[in-house]
Amino acid sequence: MTCGGFEANNEWRARYLGPGWELAKVGGTHFNLGDGIRTALALGGAPYGNWSGCHAVGWNGNASDYGDLNVGDRFQKHSYPLGLLINAHGERFIDEEFYFRNFTYACYGREILNQPEQFAWQIFDNKVTHLL
Ligand SMILES: Cc1cc2nc3c(=O)[nH]c(=O)nc-3n(C[C@H](O)[C@H](O)[C@H](O)COP(=O)(O)OP(=O)(O)OC[C@H]3O[C@@H](n4cnc5c(N)ncnc54)[C@H](O)[C@@H]3O)c2cc1C
Repeated sequence: MTCGGFEANNEWRARYLGPGWELAKVGGTHFNLGDGIRTALALGGAPYGNWSGCHAVGWNGNASDYGDLNVGDRFQKHSYPLGLLINAHGERFIDEEFYFRNFTYACYGREILNQPEQFAWQIFDNKVTHLL
């Protein structure tokens, strides 16, 4: 029952997380299609938990569609507290310093997905390049 969620199921992502989510890149295995959940529901199990939310982080736009075990979570892009995050129109859309990074990074992936063309740039200046 607990063998993974439905994060690799494009249709279920769009169905439960919302429009545009079928285009999101997936950090984990492409085997997690929700089979366990589907089986449980078919047997009369009650859906429970936060179906319309997820752990959504900024992810390298050049990454593969699903997770790569050789790379792991190094596709994550969340150094925004050191600089600015801007969308395709050159506009800021989040508060980079709203809280400690560990309290915001899993929310800001969703904010990036809501932007035009579903991407953002991280911008840094010379003062912080040694920290990246
Ligand atoms: C890149 C990345 C970084 C992460 N970093 C952290 C972190 O730092 N700290 C943290 O706490 N969490 C982290 N997580 C989250 C954490 O890894 C997951 O929440 C956790 O692994 C989920 O466990 P699970 O057993 O539900 O699913 P999984 O670990 O995904 O395991 C599900 C398994 O079931 C298999 N499976 C699926 N369907 C079937 C089927 N029909 N038949 C047979 N097998 C099937 C899949 O192949 C897979 O092996 C990270 C996740 C990712 C993707």
